[in-house]
Amino acid sequence: MMQNRTYLDWNATTPLRREARDAMTAAWDVVGNPSSIHGEGRRARGLMENARATLAAAVGAQSRNVIFTSGGTEANALALSNSLQRDKQAPDRLIVSDIEHASVLAGGQFDPDRIARLRVQRSGVVDLDALRPMLAGRPPALVSVMLANNETGAIQPVAEVADLVHEAGGLLHVDAVQAFGKIDFNIKALNVDLLSVSAHKIGGPKGTGALILAENVIGPRALIQGGGQERGRRAGTENVAAIAGFGAAVAAAVAGRASDMARIEILRDRLEQGFRQTQGKSQAGVIFSHDVARLPNTTLFGVPALKAETAVVRFDLEGIAVSSGSACSSGKVQPSHVLQAMGYGPELVRSAIRFSLGWETTDADIDRAIKAWRKLSGALLRTDETVLEQF
Ligand code: PLP
Repeated sequence: MMQNRTYLDWNATTPLRREARDAMTAAWDVVGNPSSIHGEGRRARGLMENARATLAAAVGAQSRNVIFTSGGTEANALALSNSLQRDKQAPDRLIVSDIEHASVLAGGQFDPDRIARLRVQRSGVVDLDALRPMLAGRPPALVSVMLANNETGAIQPVAEVADLVHEAGGLLHVDAVQAFGKIDFNIKALNVDLLSVSAHKIGGPKGTGALILAENVIGPRALIQGGGQERGRRAGTENVAAIAGFGAAVAAAVAGRASDMARIEILRDRLEQGFRQTQGKSQAGVIFSHDVARLPNTTLFGVPALKAETAVVRFDLEGIAVSSGSACSSGKVQPSHVLQAMGYGPELVRSAIRFSLGWETTDADIDRAIKAWRKLSGALLRTDETVLEQF
């Protein structure tokens, strides 16, 4: 972590864990191609299979059902290609929740007019009552609902969604990119068919991820065709070093999760208390999804008079990295589709700032963020545009 900086944007990406760095450093010296049968090749394959087994065990899946990809985005795209449960037809329609990541909202290989949107409640949790009629008496669907939202941290009722989807003969894909490493879950207990994860959200390298399948799922159809790597489901020589780093990050994340997250949740709650104490005269501040189960590391906070981009720049000048809503799209500032889907108006939507914590976050980081907010909030919460413009 950079000296004198406080990094509170862990949902965007995390620092590389020491264990991941060590595993990658060692892997660079392994010359073999994992598809080669000689000793060098077998060594490279060994590193990869080790990582695959670690990842599979972390979510309760079988190693052979782990497909390594270039990240969460590709895992989501692959999930939405064409998969089916044994003895069933592949669904030819897709239902995605309104709060999914852009890579799911893009709809994969589905025809745009075969894609329906599932609404969420104001709490940021998907509306199961809306889902029932979208499934009952209709042809089977592939449904995609994330396990935890990247902006609010709201945890979705995935096991209940799975029951409804399976009763109607469909398949469930779950984007677990944000939940993985932060909360404990199991692919079997959740009854999920396809699960996406990404290395860089848990201390692994950027540009690596995986799609994990349940036992009875066949497919998906490869998006990248060529050699028979990844059991024909994703062609191309695998990124062995990154995969080795991913495996090491998974092991470290799982080992430290319970104690890290208990500590992080206390810090997050203290940060929220700090916001509440200093939110200007309006007292209209909102901590989004506060009243539902959330990731322990995330808080998304807004006050109508605040302009999130201005706040992010001011925090940055104070040495603190935070984000305005989601940070994914190439410097583009777009109003949060998640908060819009939750029914919030433009004032609150443009005011939302996200603080996300991680295993290296300290008490001092939280003190610094609260102090900065105290210092900045007076000016940031003034609606006088001339004051805001000078930032
Ligand atoms: N899904 C969610 C919920 C995310 O938050 C992200 C990244 O921010 C992704 C998918 C994409 O993952 P990746 O950056 O590995 O492509």
